[in-house]
Amino acid sequence: MSNKIPFLERNIEYLKGVGPNRAELLRAELNIYTFGDLLFHFPFRYIDRSKIYAIKDLDESLPFIQVKGRISDIRKEGLGKAQRLTASLSDGSGRIDLVWFQGVKWLEDSLKAGTEYIAFGKPSVFRNVINITHPELSKIEQEEKEVGIIPVYSVTEKLRARGLDSKGISKLVKTLLENPDFEIKENLPTSVILRQSLLFRDIAFKNIHFPEQWQKGEEARHRLKFEEMFFMQVKIIKFKLRQKSQKTQIKFDKIGELFNEYYHNKLPFELTNAQKKVIKEIWADLKTGHQMNRLLQGDVGSGKTVVALISMLIANDNGYQACLMAPTEILATQHFDSITKALDGMNVNVGLLMGSTKTAARKELAELLENGELHILIGTHALIEDHVKFKNLGLSVIDEQHRFGVAQRYKLWQKNTEPPHVLVMTATPIPRTLAMTVYGDLEISAIDELPVGRKPIRTVHRYERGLNEIYVFMKEQIRLGRQIYIVYPLIEESEKLDLQSLQEGFEIIKHHFPEPEFTVGMLHGKMKSKEKEIVMKGFIAGTTHVLVSTTVIEVGVNVPNASVMAIMNAERFGLAQLHQLRGRVGRGADQSFCVLITSDKLGQDGRKRIDTMVQTTDGFKIAEVDMELRGPGDIDGTRQSGLMNLKLINIATDGKIIEQSRIEAERVLADDPFIKRPEHQAMHIYFEEYGRKNNDWSRVS
Ligand code: ADP
Ligand code: MG
Repeated sequence: MSNKIPFLERNIEYLKGVGPNRAELLRAELNIYTFGDLLFHFPFRYIDRSKIYAIKDLDESLPFIQVKGRISDIRKEGLGKAQRLTASLSDGSGRIDLVWFQGVKWLEDSLKAGTEYIAFGKPSVFRNVINITHPELSKIEQEEKEVGIIPVYSVTEKLRARGLDSKGISKLVKTLLENPDFEIKENLPTSVILRQSLLFRDIAFKNIHFPEQWQKGEEARHRLKFEEMFFMQVKIIKFKLRQKSQKTQIKFDKIGELFNEYYHNKLPFELTNAQKKVIKEIWADLKTGHQMNRLLQGDVGSGKTVVALISMLIANDNGYQACLMAPTEILATQHFDSITKALDGMNVNVGLLMGSTKTAARKELAELLENGELHILIGTHALIEDHVKFKNLGLSVIDEQHRFGVAQRYKLWQKNTEPPHVLVMTATPIPRTLAMTVYGDLEISAIDELPVGRKPIRTVHRYERGLNEIYVFMKEQIRLGRQIYIVYPLIEESEKLDLQSLQEGFEIIKHHFPEPEFTVGMLHGKMKSKEKEIVMKGFIAGTTHVLVSTTVIEVGVNVPNASVMAIMNAERFGLAQLHQLRGRVGRGADQSFCVLITSDKLGQDGRKRIDTMVQTTDGFKIAEVDMELRGPGDIDGTRQSGLMNLKLINIATDGKIIEQSRIEAERVLADDPFIKRPEHQAMHIYFEEYGRKNNDWSRVS
């Protein structure tokens, strides 16, 4: 019976050595349902019992290995909990330290200087010297049973209790690989395999589980990583090609009155060259008769809003409506206010729709929207709710896309029978390799210069004990007519506690900045919309001098007169957040400052983040360091992109593989966009299957 079912799809229960009980466990504990799932349960590390290494050949990149040598110089160091036992091991080629932090007493009694041992463990570097921490030791005469390179699998306590420890899993995998029916079909085109010098697929699967040699194991992992990213790229590129080839009725072929009126008579400044270039790129898309899907990247303060506004006016000029979606009510309100002001006296009706919009106002908006009298709708994600209907939406702009998911982007497509053009904007510079995946289906435009006359923000790091001096400096700034942000951390898990500390911070700041000379305002996400609005208005108008706030002001907020951004407990913020927050100042012509305030105790990562902020304002450099420190999982925008389902690829460290797989995928599809050529048959079959399994976001098209 089971012969009919493809080998890898067979129920794990029917693998020799499994049976119903263990199958149940494997499903519950490791999500292993089929033979294929087991095959894809890769070892997370290896133990190399294949040979005895010479001490001189050890380096940090090696897995768990064994060395053989004589013990000498056994010594106890440190006190109390920090106590450790160190012994030297020499084999004639060199000498390393073996270090134990636990079982010190027992080891001290049992280790014998002058005796030969086999030490087994992972070489690591401490103070620039190689050592092995917590090695297993065995005397030479004890025979070692395991040989070769041994895979180590992650298992749970429950599995272990039922005999399915790492060794047990390894046994099952072996059974699987040795099954006479075992068959792994190649899925990459031969040309790609050859160009990239990849292992064949079946060999890769065998070697990722049981590497013949260490090197082969690495090659196996490389091959499977490549394959993983290659098919993801094929999917992204195909998706992009499909969009680009589809004709749309929404064609903006004229530059009209509104554009001209705004551009020539209203625009309060000269656009930067970068802004002009980007507008040309957008215009070129809008008039082709194909749907635009463009990402506008521009660092904080580079002037993306005006680009959005001009694009929306082009839509209006061509008889279409436009919308602008922002991630927070504060930002949406700000856009609404500034755009209404910018278009004052022009024949454009602008509306604002947010979660907090009252029913009566909603009704009115809905009517104007459906009869076409409303030209531009600004709002939060309330815009994408199903009941919001446009008469003829032609352009959707999403501000700060990194705060939204891919799915939300596509929801906007459904707001018209013909999908509208889409412009997404983001200030979060993301590393190139990540952009290739998260935004791989978009064309990319970049504003790579700031408006003239901006002075670079000066960033400094200060300790809490120096706060009084900082207050003095802030007062000087206020007396010069400037305004100040003071940001407190608000992290969800400890929200209550943080709100309390924000409140306390507010009291302290009010104490240091007494009325009537100074006015201090407070802003946080838990406030009512109306309250938030009043506070923001006071700050925008300049009547509030100091705004004590949480990160609700993190994205987009634009008050050019604010010149100081002080961040309390700065060590608790991520780099992307710090960069965004800093971007709230330096928006006018005055010298601006960012003061990062921390406690004396700074961890290693915290220190690195603060140093990075002090050293550079380059968003891309900051993004790279961020990814290095956090890994891509936490980087905004990756969560909904399917990237989190990657099993092997690490976006932070596998940049090269990502780039190469993108190049190869583009190459194959350029020749054969429908993957129909005979030499691509295996790839075609696999890709169909892949599409069925990974349809979470292609579905939204
Ligand atoms: P972001 O790209 O961060 O969204 P904004 O669109 O909020 O930036 O623009 C930041 C500030 O710079 C705003 O006050 C805006 O009016 C101003 N601005 C935008 N473009 C220019 C320009 N070409 N010259 C001078 N000021 C500009
Ligand atoms: Mg903005």
